[in-house]
Amino acid sequence: MDEGKWLVVCDVDGTLYMPEAGNPGLAEFAEFIDARRDRIVFALNSGRSLDEMAEVAEGGPLPRPDWLVCSVGTEIFADFDPSRPDPEWAEFVMREWPRDELREALASLDFLEEQEAWLQHHAKLSYYVDSGMDSLRDELDRVTAPWAGRFKTTLCLDRYLDFLPPWGGKGGPVEFLARRLGIPRNRIVTAGDSGNDRDMLDRGFHSILVANHAAEIGDLASLPTVLRAESPAAAGVLEGLRRLGVD
Ligand SMILES: [Mg+2]
Repeated sequence: MDEGKWLVVCDVDGTLYMPEAGNPGLAEFAEFIDARRDRIVFALNSGRSLDEMAEVAEGGPLPRPDWLVCSVGTEIFADFDPSRPDPEWAEFVMREWPRDELREALASLDFLEEQEAWLQHHAKLSYYVDSGMDSLRDELDRVTAPWAGRFKTTLCLDRYLDFLPPWGGKGGPVEFLARRLGIPRNRIVTAGDSGNDRDMLDRGFHSILVANHAAEIGDLASLPTVLRAESPAAAGVLEGLRRLGVD
């Protein structure tokens, strides 16, 4: 175990990256990380694909990640280097994932609309939902029953519904990285702002909810391991790291 290091894992959109609000705190956050490279392993964990991540990297002063987790936990890369996907994770996460069968079954549901082709990925199926999921859940469960336990879903902002392998989602990769790097759980910090971050915020790691978080994960603030920042976006993550004593 490397007990001297922290693993800091941040969602991107709305958590670090908020260009419409001038990226509050992002430059200071980047400085904070860069000054502590010897003791912080920094990872980005985004719903974006690798290509979409590269666009963000060009548009704002995001600190360079040591690890990059893309497409809601289904791909892990060292840096932004597309030639270095982690082979162990790729094989593990894809076991018994019935993507084609699910896609065919879901085509019969008219409340789901497939997202555009460039948002799809071999380890996720992404849809737009046109009304609240609560009333649609039974129908969804019925249609997908033959593959129950072989996939999971995440809903973001009541609009974006992803189907993922059971080990997909944002939390599994954090566990995997921590094990790989030998960093104990009490030295892991995660930060997020919306529904697809829940999976890494509710696992008992130190977790930061930025002030601009979506209502759908507001309940997490009552967990003893979750800290709700008073500042938005990167300013909130930085506030959280300081309050947690990460230095
Ligand atoms: Mg986000």
